Amino acid sequence: MTAIPMTLPTAADRAAPAPEPPSHFIRHIVRRDVAAGKHGGQVVTRFPPEPNGYLHIGHAKSIFLNFGIAAEFGGRTHLRYDDTNPAKEEQKYIDAIERDLAWLGCSWSHLRHASDYFEALYRCALKLIRQGDAYVCDLSADEVRAARGTLTEPGRDSPWRDRKVAENLDLFARMRAGEFPDGSRTLRARIDMAAANINLRDPAIYRIRRLAHPRTGEAWCIYPMYDFAHGISDAFEGITHSLCTLEFEDHRPLYDWFLDRLDIENDPELTAPLRDAGLWLPPSRPEQIEFARLNLDYTVLSKRRLNELVNGGHVEGWDDPRLPTLAGFRRRGYTPEALRAFCELIGISKQESVIPMEVLENALRDDLNRRAPRRMAVLRPLKVVLVDYPQGQSETISAANHPQDETLGSREIPFGRELYIERDDFDIDPPKGFHRLKPGGEVRLRNAYIIRCEKAIAGPDGGIAELHCTYDPASKSGLPGAARKVKGTIHWVSARHAIDAEIRLYDRLFTVPYPAADKNRDFKEFLNPESLVTLAGAKLEPALAAAAGGEALQFERQGYFTPDRDSTAGRPVFNRAVSLRDTWGRKAG
Ligand code: ATP
Ligand code: MG
Repeated sequence: MTAIPMTLPTAADRAAPAPEPPSHFIRHIVRRDVAAGKHGGQVVTRFPPEPNGYLHIGHAKSIFLNFGIAAEFGGRTHLRYDDTNPAKEEQKYIDAIERDLAWLGCSWSHLRHASDYFEALYRCALKLIRQGDAYVCDLSADEVRAARGTLTEPGRDSPWRDRKVAENLDLFARMRAGEFPDGSRTLRARIDMAAANINLRDPAIYRIRRLAHPRTGEAWCIYPMYDFAHGISDAFEGITHSLCTLEFEDHRPLYDWFLDRLDIENDPELTAPLRDAGLWLPPSRPEQIEFARLNLDYTVLSKRRLNELVNGGHVEGWDDPRLPTLAGFRRRGYTPEALRAFCELIGISKQESVIPMEVLENALRDDLNRRAPRRMAVLRPLKVVLVDYPQGQSETISAANHPQDETLGSREIPFGRELYIERDDFDIDPPKGFHRLKPGGEVRLRNAYIIRCEKAIAGPDGGIAELHCTYDPASKSGLPGAARKVKGTIHWVSARHAIDAEIRLYDRLFTVPYPAADKNRDFKEFLNPESLVTLAGAKLEPALAAAAGGEALQFERQGYFTPDRDSTAGRPVFNRAVSLRDTWGRKAG
């Protein structure tokens, strides 16, 4: 398909001055901190994805929050890959994450990897050992688990808990040097095996794992655990507000414990490796603040489950338009503006909730209703012959691209003796109140004439093959005579000029609102077999040949569509991003 670039006005161009986004508790905290001069009045946030899958719309909530709050207070945001687990991380995910962030319009000031900090993290571990705050433990993973206790019972001390500092230093150095097999020893924080918060019961800080790392290769056979690496990485980068989802609330005491013991701001030894690597930034004492994650109904927002859908072939890849991944939404025809408006609408709180999918769909409708050019496309065509329209004649009709916005211009639509209309817009034996085309009835063709159905011609299979109609030349839209009114208006395309296209209609990926709610059932049992309907024989008005990838259009009466990347020269494929109105509730109810 030839791509004629067409710049859509952005939301900012056409909206009145943007209203203040609704406030929330994190903005209050940050405003208070800035006013009090905490962290020198600075705001530095980070978005810390693990590169083990594509980003989904839950990540967008975190992205808009982190980038938005820093921008609002004149601060900066880092992109940091949380790549401490080499087992699952891949370059293709890193590429995808950067594409998605760029699409959302978010640019980071600094790009970092937790693995940039391996040497400095190692120094932090040494400091804990020297202070008597960490020890090498020889228990196996199973033994550690058995000694951990429960919510009601304290844990038991490891027999290795009181090792001397010198012995711990020696053993830890030998762990690093590769002297011990995987899993045979761990370095553990020495906190409190009786702590009410199980996360504080001497958690592991390092484990032995002989795995090549995508960035550090074979340099390490010990890897730091997330809870240890995360807060320290925040401090190394000068992060002031470390925003994360509620499941980390119980980890905050541990986050604080490491930072209190290490006092990174005042110990230049710890960050010396960062100076050597050119990665040094003034360190901070960050604070972790938790907010409720985004949950959406009729889908799953977890990389593990999304991985299962992709790897099991249940969808056609990470950018399948039915997935809640940002790549899926982009391909389907969602706009970053709609995702941003959605995230602002749902807000930030500590209250867990599930947002109905319609809220997201309505955000897209609102955005595209304002700025998508209108087109006519017939998805399930039925041929109409205007028997009194002269053979060989045709004309062009000029039609506005948008009913409310003349800056979007107009285009020419060819009209002729043979047309296509939507099959559903004709009924040979219609119910009462049917205002579209019926035998002997009249209907207006959008932007054109009133026609009257004279005869329905049956095909060999008994179905209706075509309609023979007459037209009223005086009723052309825009002419004085056009004032004549009929009840129905339908869309159409000229048969001779139509472009053949494939149309993909999407529905909910699951048939139930909470597919993963029942732990005893496989969420994949609830996949909706009708989540994709492909219409091979659609007919489009010629202007749609110029539609460019990423462009959103309203097909009148049908919804918002965008060209898919499967389009080829002469055979476009269009995805329906969303219908014009919400039909799901009616169908289900
Ligand atoms: P998942 O549960 O999908 O595997 P994750 O938390 O493991 O997600 P990360 O790559 O670690 O994925 O997430 C990066 C950031 O995005 C984290 O700060 C995380 O809290 C945030 N995030 C992930 N999922 C959501 C969500 N549903 N709502 C809001 N923020 C989220
Ligand atoms: Mg995570």
